[in-house]
Amino acid sequence: MKPDFNLETPVQFLKSVGPARVRALNRLGIQSVGDLLAHYPRRYFDRSQTVPIGRIRPGQDVTVLGEVLTCGERRTQRGGTLQTVTLGDDTGVLFCVWFSQSYLLKQFRNGRKVMVSGTVQSHGGRMQLAHPDFEILEPSGKEDENGEGRGPGLHTGRLVPCYGLTAGVGQHWIRSLVDQALGRFAGLLPETLPEGIRQRRGLPGRKEAVGSIHFPRDTANMESARRRLAYDEIFYIQVLMALRRESRGDQVAVVLDKPGDLTTRLVGDLPFELTRAQRRVLSEILADLRSGKPMHRLLQGDVGSGKTLVALIAALFVIEQGYQALLMAPTEVLAIQHGKTLAQLTAPLGVTVETLTGSTPSARRRALLAGAADGEIDLLVGTQALIQESVRLPRLALAIVDEQHRFGVKQRGLSTSAAETGEQAHVLVMSATPIPRSLALTLYGDLDLSLIDELPARRKPVRTELVKGDQEDSVWAGCERELAAGHQVFVIYPVIEETEGQDLKAATVEHERLAAEVFPTHKVALLHGRMKGPEKDEIMSEFTAGRIQVLVATTVVEVGIDVPNATAMVIHNPERFGLAQLHQLRGRIGRGSDGGHCWLLADRFLAEDSYRRIRFFADHSDGFVLAEEDLRMRGPGDAWGIRQHGAPGFRLANPLRDADLVRICQEDARSLLADDPELVKSEGAMVRRGLNEAFRGFLPFQSG
Ligand code: ADP
Ligand code: MG
Repeated sequence: MKPDFNLETPVQFLKSVGPARVRALNRLGIQSVGDLLAHYPRRYFDRSQTVPIGRIRPGQDVTVLGEVLTCGERRTQRGGTLQTVTLGDDTGVLFCVWFSQSYLLKQFRNGRKVMVSGTVQSHGGRMQLAHPDFEILEPSGKEDENGEGRGPGLHTGRLVPCYGLTAGVGQHWIRSLVDQALGRFAGLLPETLPEGIRQRRGLPGRKEAVGSIHFPRDTANMESARRRLAYDEIFYIQVLMALRRESRGDQVAVVLDKPGDLTTRLVGDLPFELTRAQRRVLSEILADLRSGKPMHRLLQGDVGSGKTLVALIAALFVIEQGYQALLMAPTEVLAIQHGKTLAQLTAPLGVTVETLTGSTPSARRRALLAGAADGEIDLLVGTQALIQESVRLPRLALAIVDEQHRFGVKQRGLSTSAAETGEQAHVLVMSATPIPRSLALTLYGDLDLSLIDELPARRKPVRTELVKGDQEDSVWAGCERELAAGHQVFVIYPVIEETEGQDLKAATVEHERLAAEVFPTHKVALLHGRMKGPEKDEIMSEFTAGRIQVLVATTVVEVGIDVPNATAMVIHNPERFGLAQLHQLRGRIGRGSDGGHCWLLADRFLAEDSYRRIRFFADHSDGFVLAEEDLRMRGPGDAWGIRQHGAPGFRLANPLRDADLVRICQEDARSLLADDPELVKSEGAMVRRGLNEAFRGFLPFQSG
């Protein structure tokens, strides 16, 4: 191997990778040899046990060891070719067939020992495998140059890795390629975990683990490799969280111990009682605010559990003591909605609430910034990016972050401009999605947790039905009944990325059809993320005021929109949403006292796993149950948009299944930092390098 080869070496340097294969591999996100080694198997075929031919039965997945008795080829009626190889052992004869793969015959010579794996078919009374995976065992027992050290073979007679594929990349081929890459490059994989931790936790080295995850000796070996690599993924996030926690060390915050009467007045005026859970989390939050140490707390609760109200009470608690508060929302629509709700609730209290977004006209914006700076504005609401960049609040004591995804917010500026005294503001993060506890401990390991685990009693369940596209009319009839009762309706289209022009067109065209043909007597409007801010604002406020009856929308309504009079929702192509997202959408209805009705309109035949997901959603309403299922089905990396935001996702770790790892990693991360807070000792330095690799841009210290 040339010394200048490294893990960044492009895959085309491997044998058998030409330009077409490079393009195919790129589609899988594989550019370099390092990427290829990190392309872990999705699952494994257990082909470790061979079966005597005489014992195999149709329908079984088998691995057979036999000797080539005959091989030949004939033309088929359709003009293709059919290759047939017969194998024998002491107990019987097995036929293997391939279509149009003449080149295979060169490898099967009579008398050779061969291992084949596949599903048994009965064909004209004889046992047959069509297109089996195979391995030629050389008569001398010598393996080809890449096979060394990885057991009997790559494709049969072992736990066989099964990879994510794309057109132009077959299972057999990529398996050999990974094997080749391991042989030539595995030696270059750096160790990423300190020796001490590996010993304590009984984890194999990284090199070994990467080898075993691809070509495990047995199940135990595979599980140990998976655990090691999953440990890495969780551990590094925990170190990051522990660092954030440490970096706040002995900061001081405003002491808020002279309550006024705003919170009591607000609570007294509410037309309902706070739930027990709301009261509990409030006392946790208020205790933090009184403590003189900066609060960093995650407020978790299902859609509609009353988080916003809790946050508002916390805000009033600082405002009544002469300080300012800030609420940052993930989207413009949501910022505007929050601003309105909060302004309404606080109007009788003489509190000044203002909203600042990207589409606030510049004169108004200047006025708002001035109002914020001279302390006239008590509570400022806005979108995250905007506020982090431009706002100065000299008496800021509490920053509330309504967060969609953990890694959506970079740490920079999050702890906000401190108050004029140099004291640190308190931070309350509201999670818009219920997250299973073990995942919360991972992604939010730097925060204390407050959980609202109870919904206000008045909420009636939303009935959810899965409907086939050809029964669309019955859905519109159902909507018509809701409309006749004076209620409002959401119709949702899956424009996943607002840049997908084709999808957006579909929503737009459908909007026209619904307005003209389906609901001609009602006011129907369209809302999507590419509209201008003022236009969106206008439509939302018209809908909130009940002057629009049917809102055709994309996922911009996903988070937080609160229109109690909306009782029905139609979701088109529900299979294109994840469970968590569906839950957020459905949470928009049934918020008043009338319950709600949700129709999932699938216009094509659903694949089995989509069907299962949608069915599960229709049958469950508890956000935590749905979130756990989401995690189980899709894996956390995709489901929570972590990778999307440039931080590494989880490939092998699943915080749900690996709850014990989460705990262990947190312990190890904290004790590492307790011993070496700057990460400068030798073990710490290794971890610092690993962090720089994994989380460039998310670090609370300069990377490099
Ligand atoms: P979340 O932010 O958790 O989705 P919100 O704070 O927006 O929930 O509350 C949803 C709706 O329920 C709002 O209309 C709110 O006024 C109302 N609400 C909040 N707390 C209660 C309660 N204890 N009892 C009845 N309704 C409540
Ligand atoms: Mg809310």
